Amino acid sequence: MSIHRKGPSLAKSRMFPGARPARIAEADSVVVIGLGRFGCALAGELMKSGTEVLGIDTDEEIVQSLNGVLSQVVRADATKEEALRQLAVPEFDRAVIAIGSDIQASILTASLLLKFKIPVVWAKAVTDPHGQILNQLGIHHVVYPEKDMGRRVAHLVRGAALDFIEVDQDYVLVKMAPNALVLGRPLGEMRVRAKYGVTITAYKRGDAGWVNAQLDTVLEPEDTILVAGRTADAEGFGQML
Ligand code: ATP
Repeated sequence: MSIHRKGPSLAKSRMFPGARPARIAEADSVVVIGLGRFGCALAGELMKSGTEVLGIDTDEEIVQSLNGVLSQVVRADATKEEALRQLAVPEFDRAVIAIGSDIQASILTASLLLKFKIPVVWAKAVTDPHGQILNQLGIHHVVYPEKDMGRRVAHLVRGAALDFIEVDQDYVLVKMAPNALVLGRPLGEMRVRAKYGVTITAYKRGDAGWVNAQLDTVLEPEDTILVAGRTADAEGFGQML
């Protein structure tokens, strides 16, 4: 097992007695297991927002490349209970299993984290059966990054959306340009919700930030709007001219 630590941000970390590795299982810390493209992007984003990250991967090259980027990065096999215990993984409140293609490793790691009773465990699934097993084991949040991104891009490709977030199976938030139907008069007079089944929640004008839409808001052609509604309604609204 090889361990790399990032200096300054680890002021709170301490060493286990004897030869045991340092730990960072503090309040705002997350252990990320599997540092492929998904795990690495996730760990980096957590670091950016000030969260301490212990990264674990079996691949020495990956571990070396993240040396100094994450709070602590360790080469270890997450399917080995002893290795996880040595890294104080049971003391973390939050963990992410970002191992995908090695389904066996993903499931073994998941069962260990659940055995440790880590309160919140997220796991990436690459297929529906993989996700079902993780759910059945009791993993709290199962995500399907490839599938979700594929669906999202399909909606972007199909319509006029600039961005698209699926809040639930059939409810979305869509960033789009306003269509001509809602320009020039206060939104309160347009009866957008009654006519088109969607709500214009906010708008952005020029370099100004996002502003909540009000009944007296009058949209302009260059604005960007944020529309909430059922998927079909929001898409239909986006395609109207
Ligand atoms: P991504 O799309 O995120 O790049 P992937 O699905 O292509 O991931 P995976 O096989 O899921 O690739 O591996 C993600 C990372 O998990 C790899 O860097 C791999 O070394 C690491 N990994 C695989 N098995 C284990 C394990 N038992 N313990 C720790 N890390 C592991």
